[in-house]
Amino acid sequence: MRINSVAIIGSGIAGMRAAQLLKAEGYAVSVFEKSRGTGGRMASAVLGDVSVDLGCAMIDAATPEFEHWLIEQGAQLWHPRCATLAFGDRSVRSGWVPVPRSSSLTRRLADGVELRTETRVAVVWPDREGVLLRDDKGESLGHFDAAVVATPAPQAAILLDAIHRFRQKAEQVSTVPVWTLLISLASRPARLSDIDWLEGGDPLIGKLVRDSSKPGREGENWVLQATEEWSLANQDQEPSRVALELQGAFDAVVGEAQEPMQQRVHRWLYARAVPGSGREFALWDAQSGIGACGDWLCGGSVEGAWRSANELVARILASRSKVA
Ligand SMILES: Cc1cc2nc3c(=O)[nH]c(=O)nc-3n(C[C@H](O)[C@H](O)[C@H](O)COP(=O)(O)OP(=O)(O)OC[C@H]3O[C@@H](n4cnc5c(N)ncnc54)[C@H](O)[C@@H]3O)c2cc1C
Repeated sequence: MRINSVAIIGSGIAGMRAAQLLKAEGYAVSVFEKSRGTGGRMASAVLGDVSVDLGCAMIDAATPEFEHWLIEQGAQLWHPRCATLAFGDRSVRSGWVPVPRSSSLTRRLADGVELRTETRVAVVWPDREGVLLRDDKGESLGHFDAAVVATPAPQAAILLDAIHRFRQKAEQVSTVPVWTLLISLASRPARLSDIDWLEGGDPLIGKLVRDSSKPGREGENWVLQATEEWSLANQDQEPSRVALELQGAFDAVVGEAQEPMQQRVHRWLYARAVPGSGREFALWDAQSGIGACGDWLCGGSVEGAWRSANELVARILASRSKVA
């Protein structure tokens, strides 16, 4: 099959890495994203007049290839001062952060790509003219030579309906929610004066991270990620109630009630993917021109999502060279 145009569904790290590689090979790439901005679980959210990282707080690079790529994309090393939530086990960690905000990474990869935000794809279906995409109102988004599904597994399962095996594979993945509270303060609480990252030893708070300590950030902004257990137990709780409980837990850590200047609560329904068995890091069906990549196929992490996109594009290019 000859491929010129590729539609990518999802503008997280997997979708945008696939877009970067396919664009470099001369394909016309169109990315469809249901949200207002790029990044997916590496998105940033507006809080007052600044942006705060809403999802993944810091990227670990296990391989030199991924680390080099992060440096090329302008990511910087961050060395947060860490402790448990009981202020024990002090240490300094190292990890990568996009600058000036998490979503900068995927935004940068969107250069030269047609990006359609606030567009939820509902159907991906092969027919005689190629792969047809429809949005959630039933409107056609056009035909493409190939389509890459780069969404979390539960959303991918629906979009991969045309290929039974792919749908089944996505359905085997379980996911875990995480409630997150962004807190903007007028000044730094005294008890947190020499700490950027608290984690471990609390049934409610999974991580408490000072976003403002990352390179290129401003203000006094904190991100509280609830534990997966608490988030699961409170999955359907009212957001206002969750915000109250999480704010109470933050106040207990700092030892006094805070009056945040801004606050924002968000539920990540599919925060972490627990991949099924198997070592197929990407899915590609050359006959229909439909493929899939994402963290749920490779390790459930940012680096895994990146590797999955690399694998998918290698398979797309290999099937093209068979035709040539
Ligand atoms: C709170 C939190 C903390 C985390 N911490 C870490 C960590 O410390 N280390 C780590 O490695 N990873 C962490 N992760 C996980 C990491 O962020 C993800 O593994 C990675 O970002 C997944 O990338 P992705 O491109 O596969 O999917 P996503 O980032 O989820 O991107 C998928 C995109 O598809 C879009 N989409 C979905 N359905 C549709 C549709 N029908 N039409 C159009 N668009 C659609 C979504 O809006 C989204 O933008 C964390 C995640 C969260 C939420």
